[in-house]
Amino acid sequence: MKVLKFGGTSVGSIENIKNVKNIINDGEKKVVVLSAMSGTTNTLVSIAKHIEQDQPNEALDVINKLHSNYFNVVDGLLTNESLNKKAKDYVSAVFNLLVECTDKTFSKVIENTILAQGELLSTFMFNCFLEQEGVSSTLLPALDFMRIDKSKDPDITYIKSKIASVLDAGPDADIYITQGFICLDNEGNISNLQRGGSDYSATIIGAVLKVDEVQIWTDIDGMHNNDPRYVENTRPISNLSFDEAAELAYFGAKILHPQTVTPVREDNIPVRLKNTMNPEAHGTLISSDTTENGIKAIAAKDNITAIKIKSGRMLQAHGFLKRVFEIFEVYETSIDMITTSEVAVSLTIDDDKNLDKIVSELEKFASIEVDKDQSIICLVGHSVVKHEDTYKMFQILQDVKIRMISYGGSNNNISLLVNSKDKITTLTKLNDYLFELVTL
Ligand code: ADP
Ligand code: ASP
Ligand code: MG
Repeated sequence: MKVLKFGGTSVGSIENIKNVKNIINDGEKKVVVLSAMSGTTNTLVSIAKHIEQDQPNEALDVINKLHSNYFNVVDGLLTNESLNKKAKDYVSAVFNLLVECTDKTFSKVIENTILAQGELLSTFMFNCFLEQEGVSSTLLPALDFMRIDKSKDPDITYIKSKIASVLDAGPDADIYITQGFICLDNEGNISNLQRGGSDYSATIIGAVLKVDEVQIWTDIDGMHNNDPRYVENTRPISNLSFDEAAELAYFGAKILHPQTVTPVREDNIPVRLKNTMNPEAHGTLISSDTTENGIKAIAAKDNITAIKIKSGRMLQAHGFLKRVFEIFEVYETSIDMITTSEVAVSLTIDDDKNLDKIVSELEKFASIEVDKDQSIICLVGHSVVKHEDTYKMFQILQDVKIRMISYGGSNNNISLLVNSKDKITTLTKLNDYLFELVTL
């Protein structure tokens, strides 16, 4: 058994949905995880924002426009009259629910209910389409088995037992279709795995079902060696280890949700990244294989805040760092990078929800400087720290101001902190120095 996940672009047009059908229709048993059609979740976010800001008319305008877009998709996809009607009834029920939400007092549950509709729509329509094309499939509602616990981690024990009973209760099918992204929280309310979370849904399902492989089908031919949104001439990487992929996903490679690799690495379940628009391309295979050394890829993570904590005597005053870390723990804020000197420690966070409170606690025993709008540039590769070509990255010091460097924390990752306005220059120059082999 395999899990195949198709992202927003892959189900974002009639033509691509047809490609997806051709890819999955090979007679093998599989779970197919679908995202919402591209753009839908962003639109749902804007509907929720209008409701939160008490702008019901603006929300209704957006809802009506999206409703008619979905009717067009149904018409383009479903020529069979009864399936066309069945899908339109479902679409209308979804949009009636959205309209009802505009009358309600805004809450997290309302927001999450709105955000969940994109995946519910895409899976329902796709299942109807498969029926029309004579491909037998069964819809597995993700909300019947996918749940997160209090700390927002997947509740694996619950998911395992529920998915087994859902599969046992349903007809024995070759193709199961389910929603990515959406889940229940520990209180049974509708929730989600954060933006881009369908990748994570796929590997969670892959891990609990102990499948042979998880495939993530998207709009590019695998993980590239740099961010193709900002840098020209990037290349796909054919193999990555779980560690390398985890670092790249966590440090901003948008192709993967930050937690994608976590559920599958322990059981050594390979993850293959493939291009729906070019299925022949090799893509990227993520596995436990770590044969090649050296820098494989560069990624960037934005919206980072750097905090410098200065104190008269720091390192010799033992217990200082403990005091610092305890504050971050109390405010449940994780630290990404850290560097120290005798008189100061600099660290970075990406969740600045509790920044003011953290700073006022720290100010009780240190002077604090905060720099917002920073980006972490992360260079990833097995044993990158020891590789003979790695020194070339330091050429970047002549091009941009580096705020922090973290080298040696792990063998597979070197991180630089730069002002976000210098991100593209940094990514481009590093590309030249490290991959284009500019003569120095
Ligand atoms: P999906 O909707 O299929 O989940 P995403 O938009 O989430 O697709 O991820 C694919 C996109 O990730 C690509 O189109 C590309 O622009 C972006 N991306 C960012 N960094 C990388 C990278 N290192 N390699 C490949 N794609 C990347
Ligand atoms: N539809 C969700 C999002 O846009 C989840 C996903 O696409 O993975 O974030
Ligand atoms: Mg994605």
